[in-house]
Amino acid sequence: MNIQHSRELYKEAKSHIVGGVNSPSRAFKGVSGGTPVFMEKGEGAYLYDVDGNTYIDYIGGYGPIITGHAHPHITRAITEAAQAGVLYGTPTSLENQFAKKLKDAIPSLEKVRFVNSGTEAVMTTIRVARAYTGRNKIIKFAGCYHGHSDLVLVAAGSGPATLGSPDSAGVTHNIAEEVITVPFNDIDSYKQALDAYGDDIAAVLVEPIVGNFGIVEPEPGFLETVNQMTHDAGALVIYDEVITAFRFHYGAAQDILGVHPDLTAMGKIIGGGLPIGAYGGSVKIMEEIAPLGPAYQAGTMAGNPASMKAGIACLEVLEDQGVYDKLEVLGKKLEDGLAKIADDTQVPVQINRKVGALTLYFSSREVKNYDDAEATNSEQFSTFFHSLLEQGIHLAPSKFEAWFLTTAHTEEDITATLKAAEIAFRAVKS
Ligand code: PLP
Repeated sequence: MNIQHSRELYKEAKSHIVGGVNSPSRAFKGVSGGTPVFMEKGEGAYLYDVDGNTYIDYIGGYGPIITGHAHPHITRAITEAAQAGVLYGTPTSLENQFAKKLKDAIPSLEKVRFVNSGTEAVMTTIRVARAYTGRNKIIKFAGCYHGHSDLVLVAAGSGPATLGSPDSAGVTHNIAEEVITVPFNDIDSYKQALDAYGDDIAAVLVEPIVGNFGIVEPEPGFLETVNQMTHDAGALVIYDEVITAFRFHYGAAQDILGVHPDLTAMGKIIGGGLPIGAYGGSVKIMEEIAPLGPAYQAGTMAGNPASMKAGIACLEVLEDQGVYDKLEVLGKKLEDGLAKIADDTQVPVQINRKVGALTLYFSSREVKNYDDAEATNSEQFSTFFHSLLEQGIHLAPSKFEAWFLTTAHTEEDITATLKAAEIAFRAVKS
């Protein structure tokens, strides 16, 4: 495949933009290097690069593009928004309409606020939880990504009940000491953290179905026990549903799982591809926020008409009957096909899938937490990734990312992907 123009653009990008990219994972460091492909168009399930190559896309914009690229209904909404002027700095009825739509779909949201990214949404839920409880510390789970605000760029300490250390330069030790990181699906470690710091814990931050070390579901009873123990300790439960909201059904993962948080952070899909974040919870907790309460949060772009219109349009598409059934059918076909080829080529893999989101790990051990995911074979993933890319199938360039199916993918796309995967698995084996 000729990607000469991408190579030239990447070289130029590196002279203007740090590392040549505006988000680190795009730089292919997670797949032993290579040239990131520069795209110029997306339509349905396909991406088109600057050299005239076509790709079946499984990145989905890192999650938001669940209806496929340039979905006509969403494109129309964005065009209308552009024509009506994109920012007024005043309230609009679109904000009411969208807030109501989210509340109707996710019952734990009695009140919501719109922000501009998942990072902002999570960051603010932490502030609100601290304001509400009058406590400082949070607990989070190892390997879960919650955006790039200081408090969540903290790595685990030396044991489950130890305070964290900075996971990024620029995050201070004082901040890191406000965070305890424990393994997902490990209730004993969680209990130890609560035993050690329970009186000072404001909240636990949970991806109810993990999307950031691949797709990992909670063990039966894990989330229920976390909720119970957290509330017993007088702390709040925050669900980071930035990946999971509207991913598996029309609503949030919490309603599939039947376990409900005090606060929910969202992003990605709810913006229909435009920048967005949102958070919400009970009236009592949300009224901590300015202008009603003492916890401050604001935003020039928050609730902007273009993101509101794109988000409403995206949810309108997802409300249609059969959307998630289709994602399930495609997801299963992909999972079964990959499992068969892996078996035929004798490459040990684990496939974790929920509806249209799937992770293929090169490992013979089940993946239930971050340590399991980290122990999977990076070299084999890199070989597999590059072989697929060369054949016009674009996965996200990291063994920890999910493959995201969209409603625009077809059975033929899956068949083509599996055909390419046969070659990729043989490359891994050799
Ligand atoms: N929370 C989760 C679970 C995420 O996966 C991400 C981004 O990948 C974020 C928060 C941060 O969202 P954003 O990139 O919109 O700031």
